[in-house]
Amino acid sequence: MGIVRALLGTCLGCLLLLAAVPALADHTVVLTDGTPRVPLSPYVVYYHDMAAKDSLQVAAHKLAGNQFTRLPDESAAFGFQKGAYWFHVRLLNRSQREQRWLLVQQYALSDHLDVYANYADGRTQHWKGGDALPFNEGRSIRYRHPNVLVDLPREQPVDVFVRVQSQSSMQVPLTLYTQPAFTEMSRDAQLGMGVYYGILLALFFYNMVLWLSLRDASYFWYLLHISAFGLVLFTLNGLGFEYLWPNSTWLADKSVPLSICLSQVGMQQFTRTFLGLRERWKLGDRITLGIIAFYVVLGLAATQLPYHISTPIASASVFLSITWVATLGLMITRRGYKPAVIFLLAWAMFLLGTGMFAAVAFGLVPKVFFTEYGKEIGSALEMLLLSIGLGYRYSALRTENERIIREARDQLEQKVSQRTAELSNALGQLADAHARLRESSQRDGLTGLHNRAYFREGFESLLSQARSGRRLSLLMIDLDHFKQINDRHGHLVGDECLRWAAGVIGQTLRQHNALLARFGGEEFVVALPGMDLDAAAGVAEELRLRLRAEPFKSQGATIVVTASFGVHAVDTNVRGGVETALQIADDALYRAKADGRDCVRTSAVLAA
Ligand code: GH3
Ligand code: MG
Ligand code: MG
Repeated sequence: MGIVRALLGTCLGCLLLLAAVPALADHTVVLTDGTPRVPLSPYVVYYHDMAAKDSLQVAAHKLAGNQFTRLPDESAAFGFQKGAYWFHVRLLNRSQREQRWLLVQQYALSDHLDVYANYADGRTQHWKGGDALPFNEGRSIRYRHPNVLVDLPREQPVDVFVRVQSQSSMQVPLTLYTQPAFTEMSRDAQLGMGVYYGILLALFFYNMVLWLSLRDASYFWYLLHISAFGLVLFTLNGLGFEYLWPNSTWLADKSVPLSICLSQVGMQQFTRTFLGLRERWKLGDRITLGIIAFYVVLGLAATQLPYHISTPIASASVFLSITWVATLGLMITRRGYKPAVIFLLAWAMFLLGTGMFAAVAFGLVPKVFFTEYGKEIGSALEMLLLSIGLGYRYSALRTENERIIREARDQLEQKVSQRTAELSNALGQLADAHARLRESSQRDGLTGLHNRAYFREGFESLLSQARSGRRLSLLMIDLDHFKQINDRHGHLVGDECLRWAAGVIGQTLRQHNALLARFGGEEFVVALPGMDLDAAAGVAEELRLRLRAEPFKSQGATIVVTASFGVHAVDTNVRGGVETALQIADDALYRAKADGRDCVRTSAVLAA
């Protein structure tokens, strides 16, 4: 706040002092000890030397001939002009203390500046300055604005002529200072600028670190934007010439249009990436790219074009460029993109500050600290807000990314569990099919009984149990004269008869925990675990009787079906496999056939 008060005080003090400066009827400025700082615009008279050929003598002659006029509205700003301008003021020093006063041209960009002091004794002193000379030439004090220390002997009127010729805008706000007054003024001004560029530098390095760690292009363009913008102001207020290129009069000439073009490229490009124009507004993005192309071309052209052509084009187009950026902020805000609100606020600050500065120039608002330094305060706030906006945008992006990742993960998990369910379903179906296939490979197609292969496997495991002491018997069953049934009633009836016989046998065996299979043709085989020869012969007899007792009926015919039985009880003392056991049972069956069929024979008979 100290700076604010100091600057405010300085400004108000100056206004009061301004009123106190006595001016004689012939526009002589009287310098006293009470007026250490005198802005000369209210007293200055001028004329426009179109051909830029007039010498000091010609100018003095024109002054005598009343060809000089007062400044319009006491403003020494004429815009871009051809030729040279001559200014005149007469100074009368009545100060007791100060014999040398500092004349300062408070505009840094004038090319050629000639100051002549005509003394009463006929002496003339001449100083040359302006940025067409290296920085250290033609300045009494190393300061960003051209300045000369003029000897002003007491009570002697001195005619001061200032000739300015420049490709830059014709602005000649001359001010006269005592040396202590200049020291105070420049100290306050330098502090103010130090604060401003300090903020810019802090923002620059802060965002550079962020750019290096985040690699988000927006940060890069922000850096370009603020450094190029800072460079524009640095150039405009003469610091660029003083500190960056003091010996390059070429750069002193070209730096204004170049830095303006660079700052506009940075600003537009930053806007594109910050607002995500490509995704949000295609047309807006194309127009912005067009503006960028315009500034690139203008920047390149500015290295060749004369200053008085490139700079007015660059300066005037900045208004359009800024208006466009504000429009983009508004459009994207209306499309609901939240970081755009901060962006818009930042530009509002900038426009307000710059507007204030312009309003001061037009005399619409009083010149106080906040209005005079409007563009500095506005742009500092703008850049600060944009930096905050970048942070906000980054966190919004991160939240959005996290949401997308979370959603993708959820979707993936859902898909995986869906696929897993489908897979296990398919596996279940496959297992079912496999089981069905396995089952069907174990069954006989006609009767639905197990087949010979299945029986072999089952009988094998029963045999191993028999070796550990469990009893096991085997029946071989063969239907009698089945060929005749086929022959008499046809094959289909034969098939039906086979199914019927299988059913009868199966039903009868149900109570005996037997393993039954179709052995082939009209032969069946039965394993009876836990049974000795007698019990098995009993079961065979039961089967024989059941078959006889229930004749098979088909197509009106009643067919009595009989069968012969071979019975064998596996002897655990005799080593041998399935084949041996089957062979023995088959032998017994053969015996039954031989004994007239429809009977049961056991392996015991064979042994006898
Ligand atoms: P035996 O009393 O000596 O056993 O006389 P059989 O006629 O029953 O015996 P054989 O071995 O001479 O004939 C068996 C017949 O069984 C011959 C064949 O036509 C018939 N057969 C075998 N498998 C099937 C079948 O799946 N369907 C039908 N319809 N007949 C079959
Ligand atoms: Mg047979
Ligand atoms: Mg038979």
